Amino acid sequence: MEGVHSVRRVLTAATTALTLTTAGTMLAGTPGQAAPTAWGRPVVSAAPQPGAPGLGDTYFPDYGNGGYDVEHYDVRLRYEPATDLLTGTTTILATATQDLSTFNLDFLLDVESVRVNGWAASTSTAGVHELVVTPARTVTRGQQLTIVVRYSGVPSEALVGGYTGWTRTDDGALAVNEPESAWWWFPSNDHPLDKATYDISVSVPTGVEVISNGVQPRPPAAEAGNRTRWIWRTTSPTATYLAFLAIGQYDIVTDTTPGGQPVINAYSTSLGALGPAARASIERTGEIVDWASGIFGPYPFEAQGGVAGPVDGIGFALETQTRPVYGPGFWRRGANTYVVAHENAHQWFGDSVSVAEWRNIWLNEGFASYAEWLWSEEQGEGTAQEVFDFAYASYPADDEFWQVLPGDPGAARVFDNAVYDRGAMTLHQLRLAVGDDAFFEILPAWAAEHRYGNGTIAQFQALAEQISGLDLDDLFTTWLFTPGRPDVASAARKATPPTVPKSWAKIREGHHPLPSH
Ligand SMILES: [Zn+2]
Repeated sequence: MEGVHSVRRVLTAATTALTLTTAGTMLAGTPGQAAPTAWGRPVVSAAPQPGAPGLGDTYFPDYGNGGYDVEHYDVRLRYEPATDLLTGTTTILATATQDLSTFNLDFLLDVESVRVNGWAASTSTAGVHELVVTPARTVTRGQQLTIVVRYSGVPSEALVGGYTGWTRTDDGALAVNEPESAWWWFPSNDHPLDKATYDISVSVPTGVEVISNGVQPRPPAAEAGNRTRWIWRTTSPTATYLAFLAIGQYDIVTDTTPGGQPVINAYSTSLGALGPAARASIERTGEIVDWASGIFGPYPFEAQGGVAGPVDGIGFALETQTRPVYGPGFWRRGANTYVVAHENAHQWFGDSVSVAEWRNIWLNEGFASYAEWLWSEEQGEGTAQEVFDFAYASYPADDEFWQVLPGDPGAARVFDNAVYDRGAMTLHQLRLAVGDDAFFEILPAWAAEHRYGNGTIAQFQALAEQISGLDLDDLFTTWLFTPGRPDVASAARKATPPTVPKSWAKIREGHHPLPSH
């Protein structure tokens, strides 16, 4: 993600308050004590327990839920752009990981009914976004679950702390947000620890376009009432916040890469004079993905693309899986391939390898930001060292910037500039410490080892130490976990300010909150 720092603070005020209310119930979700049997196989002796209302995330304890693991979401929707009314049925295929008396889903819209394996379940709400489901029959550990949720609502009016992650626009809507987005359009286990595959289909009035993740297994199909159903499928494990919808008036451009991957790009017709700059940037996605594959290893997903959102949409860009969505602000000064490099680097770092906890956000944003520095070098618009020198010098030692820890920024500062800029500086310092050979072995190794999974900063440090043979504890502690500007021996410390790299203005565009309108 780029350019969303102001939004984050609004929502955190609400979620922080919620933390207090859920903390007491977290323990209630702990499974019963397991007792060994003669076969050495644990048997849960206690009665079925409620699934935990969260997954233990330090920053967002109520995000996600315990007691089950989702394999697939079938999200079938009907949307009315004129009223923002969303109705739908989401079918969740999951496996119980404990005996369950109840379990939670994260969701905000009005639920009409829930069925678990065909039996009607009762529901209640708790906290800010918890739907508590009580199945008619007790669920046993290992059981396959088919959870069918029917619902409706106006997502733009479902506010949390005055905020909605659903952006209604003149001609449709965008479900694009981080770290929470699913609450406004499908019930889920909303944490990157529980990835799943998706079938997403949306019926809209004919003439409206719907873009989502992955590929279109079938062309849009006509339905009664002058409507059209758009069908999308993603077959790679996807974190909930990386599933998206873009609904409105779009020009869709399809192609195939030389490697045979489908490319689907979409451009809001509202962009007007910004349209050519958007195309001159997003149409280079395949080239940028090829370049990134040469550094990070094979591209992890089944399709590529990008969505240039409308002028009244989002004020940031997000690495939605297989197809990032870009706000209009990036095109105001002409083409910007840096944001394309950033969001597509996230396909490896953030999407395929996701954070195990949101406190590890540096593994996403530090890496995607450093990819911009590498792209600058490849474009001949400033070497990574030159960008480092300038970035480092641009924040005086007494700047508040240096007080935010990229390795543990706090829930309210997950998207702080320090996570991006000091985060990228950290990777550059790692590169200088271990040398180019080891550094460019560490990055693809990280992507390969945690492909489609999750990672922590500690695991990354261990991998970097293993490959380089160096003790890197001082480096990681200093750059990620210690307040204050670290000392460096480079041009950044010279009395003469370093030259501004040509790439700097474009790189900076992603790091300031962009106007939404
Ligand atoms: Zn990002």
